[in-house]
Amino acid sequence: MRPLGYTRVSTVDTAVAAVGADATSTFLAGGTTEVDLIRLGVSRPDVLVDINSLPLKEIAYTNDGGLRIGALARMSDVARSPEVTYNFPALSQSLLLGASEQLRNMASMGGNLCQRTRCAYFRDAVSPCNKREPGTGCSALDGLNRGHAVLGTSEQCIATHPSDAGVAMVAFDAIVHTVGPSGARSIPIDDFYLLPGASPDVEHPLEHGELIVGIEVPPAPSARRSLYLKFRDRQSYEFALVSVAAAIEVREGRVADVRLALGGVGTKPWRARRAEVALTGGPATPQAFANAAAHELEPASPRRYNAFKVPMAQRAMVRALTRAMNGGA
Ligand SMILES: Cc1cc2nc3c(=O)[nH]c(=O)nc-3n(C[C@H](O)[C@H](O)[C@H](O)COP(=O)(O)OP(=O)(O)OC[C@H]3O[C@@H](n4cnc5c(N)ncnc54)[C@H](O)[C@@H]3O)c2cc1C
Ligand code: SF4
Repeated sequence: MRPLGYTRVSTVDTAVAAVGADATSTFLAGGTTEVDLIRLGVSRPDVLVDINSLPLKEIAYTNDGGLRIGALARMSDVARSPEVTYNFPALSQSLLLGASEQLRNMASMGGNLCQRTRCAYFRDAVSPCNKREPGTGCSALDGLNRGHAVLGTSEQCIATHPSDAGVAMVAFDAIVHTVGPSGARSIPIDDFYLLPGASPDVEHPLEHGELIVGIEVPPAPSARRSLYLKFRDRQSYEFALVSVAAAIEVREGRVADVRLALGGVGTKPWRARRAEVALTGGPATPQAFANAAAHELEPASPRRYNAFKVPMAQRAMVRALTRAMNGGA
């Protein structure tokens, strides 16, 4: 049995100092990812720094109509808060379609953004896996890759990022606020997730001991009629094969504003910028939606078992855009 230290902190500064000063320590929020990974032998910290007493649970409107969400706000509280359900329905739906009610009651927003991939080779703690043990290889390239990514992949890693809320946050251009040993900073969420490239073990630009303190979601004209669709092997308690966060504003038949992001197909929550550019200013028709979706998936690199995700993602985008245009119906 490995000894495991535990300490509880009550201020942001002591949390940052505790983890920052010790390379073998890590933050513990709801524990729904971290404790699993410790049990599996994938994560091997010597000390857990429990941050649950920090005053980071607020969910509130900002002055300009955006949202401010504390890193320790629970998924279930965020999903059901009126500020989120009314102005950012896609975010609420992405949370309610994730995990289970019990997990959502424990799981924090900061932990959700930082959760690790569900790639089975990563989690078995023994297979070659560049993300878990750099330089050992990627077992998924020629292995069981049905759930893996087709966009943003590299020859070193093809794992998807599992967060549903991350997909909605990416669509809304959220900003991740952190405090670390070098001070405070704000990171646009698209930059908060790194592509695997040659170093899939580095998933975020955070330094050791850098704590997420909150997430800000700026206002967007189309956000109030946004939606999140999730397609998976079973209807609950399952990660996405494909998911879509969509928001669209149509004026006189043309697309004035559109936000699209995909889950289940990218190595990070995937902002569908190619599709957005193709759609903006053009006609809001099913054919235009289908063309834009095909354009987004053009750079896809499917493997043996996950090629089905390419047409599935395209159809999901068309359905999400059509429903968002019709007010989410
Ligand atoms: C069976 C199961 C099904 C699930 N299904 C889904 C799903 O469908 N969709 C989905 O999106 N998620 C799903 N999840 C994942 C779940 O949402 C995450 O486990 C949860 O959000 C993590 O939050 P936590 O507070 O428990 O984090 P923890 O487990 O405490 O921490 C996770 C990681 O984040 C780090 N961390 C936590 N807080 C901070 C912070 N403030 N700053 C910096 N680092 C931090 C920790 O050090 C750790 O590395 C599922 C989980 C399980 C177990
Ligand atoms: S896809 Fe990534 S996480 Fe999975 S085995 Fe390959 S390197 Fe590891």
